[in-house]
Order: sequence, then structure tokens, then C-alpha cells
Amino acid sequence: MENFTIAYLLDNDNNILEVGGPWDEFANENGGENTTTEAVLGQTIWKFIEGDITRLWLKSAFQHARLKANPIERPYRCDSPDIKRFMLMRITPRTDGALRIEHTLIREEKREKPVHIKTGNADSIYKVRARCSFCGRVKDNDLWEEPRSEHARASSEIIVMYSICEDCQLTLPGSFMPESSGSVESSI
Ligand SMILES: [Zn+2]
Repeated sequence: MENFTIAYLLDNDNNILEVGGPWDEFANENGGENTTTEAVLGQTIWKFIEGDITRLWLKSAFQHARLKANPIERPYRCDSPDIKRFMLMRITPRTDGALRIEHTLIREEKREKPVHIKTGNADSIYKVRARCSFCGRVKDNDLWEEPRSEHARASSEIIVMYSICEDCQLTLPGSFMPESSGSVESSI
């Protein structure tokens, strides 16, 4: 897909009121289940966010945006097996307490080898790695690394549970300074 922005509007209780942009196309490409426009309208956003720490971060970000009546921007990665996707999330509060959330593709980079990643749980028979929801890195021997096919080991997929790495945690509530979109890249 060319550079694009998908957007959605959350009401005061963080239920999805509207979606815009190539939502369905993006959901299909990323193998999202039950994430078509029809399926998400009226649903709480928390149904679609993986990982307790990620949820916590977003909750604080939403609260912060509403209280300060200021937009928040955060670069993050949203990769597919073949493509590294550098994205920017922008949270814009409205005066009625609704939030407009925009996800813009900044640039894409093709991977040399595809990397398959799947969300697992503690019962997985394969090694489950922590993966950062923002920079997309996976934890290997206490180091956060760009995911590679070698991380999959026995399984054909890297099995992950979502978290936030220490570098990205530095941008947690209290330090919501807008950053340039290059900051995640330079930390990898
Ligand atoms: Zn990170």
C-alpha cells in the first residue's frame, strides 16, 4: 500500500464510533480477525489491543491527551512478514472528550527474509518471547533485537507476548514529548 492514514474516533468511554481510511484493506493484509469496519464499530478499543503493558500505556496516553487537551504522537512499527512498516500514531482530543486516533504509514522497507510472528500465551510449547508493541523488537537473551527468522527456532513462527521495551518505556506518561519519526529507527 502507498502511504496512507487510517483513523478512528473513540467516544468518551473509548468505544469505536467511526473508522476511516483504508481500514478493511489494512486489516486484511495484517490477518486481523474480526476487525472489519462492521465488526469493530461500537466495540471498545481494548478488545483490539494486545498486551497488558501496551493497554496501560494507551490508557495513560488517552487520559493525558484528554486532560491536557493536546495531541500526542508516537512512532511505532506495524510489520507484515515481508515488510517493515514505520508508522506514526497521533491521538487528538476533541472538546467533547472524544479522541481521534490516526495511524499514518511513514515508510516501508522490504525484509531480506520473511519473518512470521504469532501471538502466543504462557501455555505455548515453544519459547515465548516478549515483543515490544512500539519498536517491534523481540527479546533474546535479555537484549531487544530486530526480529529475524532465526528467532523462530523450532517453530516456523516467532511466538510472542506483547510488552514495551525499556527504551520505549522512557516515553511513557510524563514524558509525552512529540518525537521525530526517526527516533525508533535509530534505537534499533
Ligand atoms: Zn520498544
